[in-house]
Amino acid sequence: ATPTALLVGTGRGAQLGVLIKGPEVLESTRRVDTVVLDKTGTLTTGRMRLVDVVAADGEDPAEVLRLAGALEHGSEHPIARAVAEAAQRPVPVGTLTAGTTTDDATDGRLTLPPVEGFASRQGLGVAGTVEGHAVVVGRAAWLASEWSQHLSQRQQQQVRDAQDAGRTVVAVGWDGAVRGLLVISDTVTPTAAQAVAELRSLGLRPYLLTGDNLAAARTVAAQVGIDPDDVRAEVMPEDKLAEVRRLQAEGRVVAMVGDGVNDAAALAAADLGIAMGTGTDVAIEASDITLVRDDLRAAVDAVRLSRATLRTIK
Ligand code: ADP
Ligand code: MG
Repeated sequence: ATPTALLVGTGRGAQLGVLIKGPEVLESTRRVDTVVLDKTGTLTTGRMRLVDVVAADGEDPAEVLRLAGALEHGSEHPIARAVAEAAQRPVPVGTLTAGTTTDDATDGRLTLPPVEGFASRQGLGVAGTVEGHAVVVGRAAWLASEWSQHLSQRQQQQVRDAQDAGRTVVAVGWDGAVRGLLVISDTVTPTAAQAVAELRSLGLRPYLLTGDNLAAARTVAAQVGIDPDDVRAEVMPEDKLAEVRRLQAEGRVVAMVGDGVNDAAALAAADLGIAMGTGTDVAIEASDITLVRDDLRAAVDAVRLSRATLRTIK
């Protein structure tokens, strides 16, 4: 039998914008001592913006953006949305795409070419044929390992510079070579730092887990108050799960907060899975709690609520 206090607790949760799957969830919430936070869409808004297109020597940045945009149009990833949106914008992005004019626009938006054989690889990128070119957009390491498209020395430096500035960089290649780099920015949510501080004050140790690069991850960690040693970057989706299991094997009781398809397995394996309200359906289904308010501080409310509820029972 479920104690009435637990039912009251879940009801109170709903008022706070914390959707709790069942009253028993409050039990595991109370014991949690570690919180693993996804970066993109959890600590950051996930509304990414393309800030620069850096073309390889002899390449046209507008063309790099147009072909990349065509591919990314078929992906739901926050990076993909930023790229596809920018590629359809009739107003030039930065100075590098000055060749693109509103004359090319249809209904105020540029038309992207169709894609054949579109394929998406979770945590790596997308590939397909556009106007006869085999185009790939994604992690530079993936373009190298799977497509034999390697960054030049100059591009490696360009990637490092952008990453040191906290940016996310993805590579665009076709027909055997890396043709350009897309520099993308994201912003930490206004309440993330406060939420992390409050989770800490409740005795939870925060970790940051992301598929993005280490420099970008550390920039966000510094902004929200997570120890640089507690940052795990360039993690593949399946390794997010392994990271949760590793912490559990150390005897920790782990809460995981995420939003993406790539977080689902880790959310399910965590002692307490918490999905952001704007997260993907798979993330929400895999979780015990959904933050309808889409504010990380609601996770703090959930922990407080469960502790208060269980105190009432004792
Ligand atoms: P996160 O853990 O931050 O949510 P993901 O695991 O979804 O990140 O992605 C990790 C990395 O894989 C991204 O930083 C990017 O380099 C690459 N990537 C994934 N999907 C795409 C895509 N659709 N287009 C370009 N790059 C992608
Ligand atoms: Mg995410």
